[in-house]
Formats: sequence, C-alpha cells, structure tokens
Amino acid sequence: MLDRASNTAPLPPEIARRRTFAIISHPDAGKTTLTEKFLLYGGAIQMAGQVRAKGEARRTRSDFMQMEKDRGISVSASAMSFDYGKYRFNLVDTPGHSDFSEDTYRTLTAVDAAIMVIDGAKGVESQTQKLFEVCRLRDLPILTFCNKMDRESRETFEIIDEIQENLAIDVTPASWPIGTGRDFIGSYDMLRDRLELMERSDRNKVAESIKIDGLDDPKLAEHVPAALLEQLREEVEMARELLPAFDRQAFLDGTLTPIWFGSAINSFGVKELMDGIGDYGPVPQPQSAEPRQIAPEEDKVAGFVFKVQANMDPKHRDRVAFVRLASGHFERGMKLTHVRSKKPMAISNPVLFLASDRELAEEAWAGDIIGIPNHGQLRIGDTLTEGETLKVTGIPSFAPELLQNCRAGDPMKAKHLDKALMQFAEEGAAKVFKPVLGSGFIVGVVGQLQFEVLASRIELEYGLPVRFEPSQFTSARWVSGPKDKVEAFAQANKGHMAQDNDGDLVYLTRLQWDIDRIERDYPDLTLSATKEMM
Ligand code: GDP
Repeated sequence: MLDRASNTAPLPPEIARRRTFAIISHPDAGKTTLTEKFLLYGGAIQMAGQVRAKGEARRTRSDFMQMEKDRGISVSASAMSFDYGKYRFNLVDTPGHSDFSEDTYRTLTAVDAAIMVIDGAKGVESQTQKLFEVCRLRDLPILTFCNKMDRESRETFEIIDEIQENLAIDVTPASWPIGTGRDFIGSYDMLRDRLELMERSDRNKVAESIKIDGLDDPKLAEHVPAALLEQLREEVEMARELLPAFDRQAFLDGTLTPIWFGSAINSFGVKELMDGIGDYGPVPQPQSAEPRQIAPEEDKVAGFVFKVQANMDPKHRDRVAFVRLASGHFERGMKLTHVRSKKPMAISNPVLFLASDRELAEEAWAGDIIGIPNHGQLRIGDTLTEGETLKVTGIPSFAPELLQNCRAGDPMKAKHLDKALMQFAEEGAAKVFKPVLGSGFIVGVVGQLQFEVLASRIELEYGLPVRFEPSQFTSARWVSGPKDKVEAFAQANKGHMAQDNDGDLVYLTRLQWDIDRIERDYPDLTLSATKEMM
C-alpha cells in the first residue's frame, strides 16, 4: 500500500466514513446473494430478489449476450452506493465471467478492499485464486466470507488451512461456526464475544444476537446443545492457540484476512461481515500518480477513469466513464481539467449509482464512484483534476492473448467497422491493431467469449454483421526505445508491425522465439506485454 504522508491529519468525516470495495468469488459461491443482502441491509432495496435477475443473466451464453444488450442492468450494477449505519459503502461490481480478467483488474484499481466469498463445501476455487492474485498485486485488504454453512461443508480448520496454504495469507477467525450442515445453528462472534443464532424458518430474518461473557457463560447452554457446545469450546481454544489473533494493521497490509462463516441466503453472518468492513475496513486510500501521489483529504478534486461503458441507448454514441474520486469534495457542475487533452470539462450531469436506481450526483467525496456521460473524450486511465497536471498510474493495459482478423460481413458498410472497433477499444473491451501493411484490423482479446460478445454488439449497435477469422499472429508486444532504433526496427519488420488504437507501435508475431531473438538483436528496444494507459 501507499504511504499515508502523515497519519495525524484527520480525514474529513465524509471521507472517513466511506468504504469502497469489491466482492470476488468463483461463480456460484454466492456473490449475487450476498450483494442482495448488503443492499437489503443498506436500505437500498426493499425485498430480496431484485438483484437476482442479474445473477441469473450470466448463467448461459445467450443470456449473457442478452445482458450485454440490456445495457441498463450492467451499467447501473457496476457500482452501488448505500449507507450502512454511519458508513457509506461503495460496492463496485467485478465482471462475473472469467474471460474478463483485464476488466476485473482495472475494476480492482478503483477499490480499497475486497470481500472474498468462498463456498464452504468447495473451498478455494480456481477463479477465487486468480482474483485473489490480482488483489495481492495491490496488497488490498481482504475480508473472507465462507458461505453456505447451512449445507454440508468442510471442516472449519480444513477451510482455514486451505486458504492459508493456497493463497499464502494468514487467516484469523472473526466468527466460529457451531455445528455443520443440518446441525448448523449459528456462530460465535470471536471479535465481539457474542452468540449469533441462525433463523431457519425465515431466510430474511436477521440472526438473533446474544451478548455473552466468554465461552464459559452459562447462558450458552440455554441455546447450544451440550455436544455442540463442548465441540465449540474445544475448537475455539485450539483456534486461539494455533491461529493468529485479529490484527488490524496486518489486515490493512493485506497479510491477514479475517474470516466470517455464514449463509448469505439465510441472511446469516452478513451483518457481522458488513460491520467488519465498516469498523475495520480501510478508509479511502492515497492514489499513486505522477509526479506525486494524491491524498484523499486534499481540498482539490482529482479522479480517474477505470471503466468506460456504452450507454443504454444504442442510437446515441453516449458512454459513461466510471470515475473513482481520489481526492476532495466534488460538486455537480464543477469544471475539471481533462489532463490528457488539457481541456476543461464541465461535469454537469454526473451519475451516482444509488443501488436500485441511477441518480444525479449533487456531490461526491474521495472514495466515491461517479459516472460521467460523455461522447468518447474520456478513456480508461484518464485523470481529471482541478487544473494540476497529474497522471494516475497503475492502470495497465495487457497484451491480448488471442488475436483474430475482423472483417465486415457487408463490404458496403466497412467504414463503420473502424468506428465500432475504436469504440470497443476505448471501452477496454478489446485491443484493435491496424497492420502497417494491408487492410483490415486485427482484434485482440483476453478470452474467446469476448469475440462473440463483440460480434453481437457490433451487429446490434452498428447494424453491421462481422466475421472473426484466425490471424497469422498470436502475440502482440508494444515496442519502445530510442526513436531512430524503433524506426529502423519497424522498417525491417514491416510485415509484423501494427498500430494500436492510440497510435502506438506494436510488434505482432506467432513465435515466442521471435520475441527472444529481437530482444537479443535489438538490445536498445523494449518489447512489452503491458502498457500503462495514457
Ligand atoms: P454467484 O454466482 O456467486 O453470484 O452466486 P449466487 O448468489 O447466484 O448463488 C449461487 C447459488 O447458491 C444460488 O442458487 C443461491 O441460491 C445459492 N446460495 C447462495 N447462498 C447460499 C447459502 O448461504 N446457502 C445455500 N444453501 N445456498 C446458497
């Protein structure tokens, strides 16, 4: 994590109460259900079931496309703000499909913490592992929620061991489950010395919470059957001996994760988790930037675009840029400088994503996510300030792993293809390369499914059928170095050269061997698999 210049300068209370986080999980672990309960307790929705449409929408490919068509859902679900007690939570949605790892990476640049949901019967699954690694790159504090405890699950120590071993992070139990499967009755809150009892008859009823005085409190026996109580006492004693105690600093440093055991569908353990984010979670953190880092408590507003999405109405080429505010107090109508173009922009109709509905944002603070409708000026990685030339860093663009040629199905409409591909490149949905020789485009993505999504969106939004065909190339590398050396290299390798959508030079190849050879033959050049978004 970045240094907070001095811990003594207090944050303005409005910033100090903000918690901006994402939920990461393997599909089916219960992210949607948990999100729904969060919104329920945040007063943002009245009834469980309203988020469900979205969770189910990505179950199948065709439904996934439908969700892509139905931009409204995915746009408003991208970031949700709601109050919980004295806190303001900003929950940023990570794309569900494993194909969108780059998108996910960038989403995680906009949050200060993550909740990792695992299924108590399945433990750490592949997608959890991948997403966790991404969080680790930024040392994000992680809270773990072990879900589905109402069903047969693994043994508690086994789950904790698996997390410690597979993810190389210390785990401290914030709660300890009592019983398993059908005998699961609730948990012991280890941080606050309370007994939480699950209500099986009503899934939306919040657990009864009983304040106790340690595990020898006679009150326990009134609620917990003797055999389970004995087991609980033994296990907790062992856990206290073998596992680290909660240490807020280690948690904030990303080296220790507190774990809660619960059942999202039964509303069990959810409030304790939310209290955990509120009471222990990080306040909005400083943001790395050039030439200096941005502190949230600065008076002046600064923010950066981490995601761009086409607007709901396909007839208008409107986009919404999702901006994470890095500092200050934003008010509607403010003029901000778009640092890349050095042009002022009046932010007159920013959107705040208030869970169930979008609303005009009258004001926002560091830590918040606002949506700025625009016509394509705002790109991923762009910085907005009140005039200072600051460039937010750490939002990379990855070399795509799959390349295909893209052709217009209707040659008469070929010129629209250029425009359509540029739009998706700006959204970060694909890399678009224009070969120096020949015609057409080479499109690069991180996962195969993205080609299908692109084809369907180009047809839908531009009325243009397109074909993706195998390309002779499989890898792309950005080329940098002294200007004359780069030019000589490009001249000698014309058949391999292309420009990306920002006009930057890219070397295309199908052989790792080629890349190795160039690195040997052209020691002054750098071939890079990532590029900082400019
Ligand atoms: P996502 O893919 O991670 O968003 O998962 P969902 O929230 O859609 O949940 C996947 C499935 O698990 C759904 O059928 C949920 O009803 C179910 N589920 C979620 N939480 C629980 C739980 O606590 N217990 C049980 N038994 N099922 C759950």
